Amino acid sequence: MKRQGISVSDGIAIGEALVITGQEPDIQKDMQGSVQKEVQSFETALENSRKEIQNIRNQSAADIGEEQAKIFDAHLSILEDPEIVDGVKEMIASEEVSAAYALDRKVTELLQLFETIDNEYLKERAQDLKDVGRRVIRHLLGVKDEILTDMKEGTILVAHDLAPSYTAQVDRRKVRGIITATGGRTSHAAIMARALGIPAVVGVKDIIKHIQPGETIGLDGFTGEVFLKLDNDQFQMLREKQQKNQARQDKLKKFIGKKTMTKDGLVRELAANIAAPEEAELALENDAEGIGLFRTEFLYMNRTELPDEEEQFEAYKAVLEKMGDRPVIIRTLDIGGDKNVTYLDFPEELNPFLGFRAIRYCLEHPELFKVQLRALLRASTYGNLKIMYPMVSNLEEVRAANALLEEAKQELSSESISFSSNIESGIMIETPAAAIISDQLAKNVDFFSIGTNDLIQYTMAADRLNEHVAHLYDPFHPGVLRLIKKVIDAAHQEGIWVGMCGELAGEEHLIPLFLGMGLDEFSMNPGNILQSREIISKWSMSEARELVQEVLNLTSSSEVKKRLDFFK
Ligand code: PEP
Ligand code: MG
Repeated sequence: MKRQGISVSDGIAIGEALVITGQEPDIQKDMQGSVQKEVQSFETALENSRKEIQNIRNQSAADIGEEQAKIFDAHLSILEDPEIVDGVKEMIASEEVSAAYALDRKVTELLQLFETIDNEYLKERAQDLKDVGRRVIRHLLGVKDEILTDMKEGTILVAHDLAPSYTAQVDRRKVRGIITATGGRTSHAAIMARALGIPAVVGVKDIIKHIQPGETIGLDGFTGEVFLKLDNDQFQMLREKQQKNQARQDKLKKFIGKKTMTKDGLVRELAANIAAPEEAELALENDAEGIGLFRTEFLYMNRTELPDEEEQFEAYKAVLEKMGDRPVIIRTLDIGGDKNVTYLDFPEELNPFLGFRAIRYCLEHPELFKVQLRALLRASTYGNLKIMYPMVSNLEEVRAANALLEEAKQELSSESISFSSNIESGIMIETPAAAIISDQLAKNVDFFSIGTNDLIQYTMAADRLNEHVAHLYDPFHPGVLRLIKKVIDAAHQEGIWVGMCGELAGEEHLIPLFLGMGLDEFSMNPGNILQSREIISKWSMSEARELVQEVLNLTSSSEVKKRLDFFK
């Protein structure tokens, strides 16, 4: 049986399913001894939970990073919330019930209250409250954590949703894969899986219902397929793909340390896209020549309040130091659209992708934007920083953003805080308007990076997340390709460099075409870098330019795909 989900972390995995059912332990209402004894057990359970969470927090900070570990601070504060702690003690005393029963009822009451309020932030807190409540109840009942007791080597974790406290305990030596029923590319489990380099598929509806614990299952993190009740043919197919993938990865290792160069000696740059400072490690393992896109919005997500200047400074500094001389393009906050920051109270929008997003939001909230700009400037002395603004649609936005950057510089100067004097600032080209006026924009910025994920959706008027119009979200459409060519030409005419950081930059069939168009930098998932270096090494610029001439004269996406050997 095969199920389809969303691939969020590359790789193939075959292993034994460990299903995290989230099943509640049996809770007795009556207390065992006196009120005093119940209250005492409750206090001990709180203390043990506190120690446990603190340990997970430390482990998580060491394995995945300080940023992701912050979620556990919220857990720790729940343990001290008087509404819960005093409320439970009162209930034990007045109703003479067990501590586990009282806590369970208190948590359920609060969760019900949360449900009546339509607020994304509270919904996320509900998940934390549930998680902490379960932990304390487990301590009261002496029941061990499912995942801690059952995990063996060769496990594929299957869960409805992987709560952060579970993900943080994932041992990468034992866990081969992760499957969840909910979530998308930006869900917590997805980000963690990528950071840990574990193949993962999310959004596989009803997966728990169809799986037997202990059953051998497989997942294809490239295609998003999940295989249940693995038959022999599927097993062989996955094994072969896994071996091929491994052999290919081994072969590609010879490109580590090599320049990215065409057959005739033209040098290009291959960079990595990252979403958390810790992913810079993965970028270096794959020999990225820089970071072409650091999506900073993830610093703002999965937490309860804005990251302050100091915290952001530390995050940017960490990446810059890690990358040494290599360029690091840090994109300013791109929230809105599909990326919600729950504590910021975003307006309900009919078309969030056409709405209050990215630079539009930041320019309306200069106080918030300035914190990021100051943090970036302060970090700039630790490496080769370039700053990039997302979702630009007119020149005024660029000028306004640069004016704020200037203000931030002046503030720092007056505080005698140093920053680098030669930071390039550039923009993403991801709206058709920006692409069409790219000749004018190019006169005002140091570089462009083409964001094809958005540029395609806006050019084709096809929501990048809407499966009903997925056939129109077409990277091979001649309209999209001509627009890209226009942007590259405009940049070069004005003497600035141009990169691409949308998913297309790592698309094997399109790389020769973009090469021929003159793209200077390709930024992609770290796992695609070595393969892209190999592809570029097989082309000469004259061959690639000829390909561009031919392709741009074709009239349909299918003709383009055929010419680019997409069907082979
Ligand atoms: C893009 O739009 O191509 C891009 C890289 O930005 P994001 O995917 O974060 O919107
Ligand atoms: Mg974008």
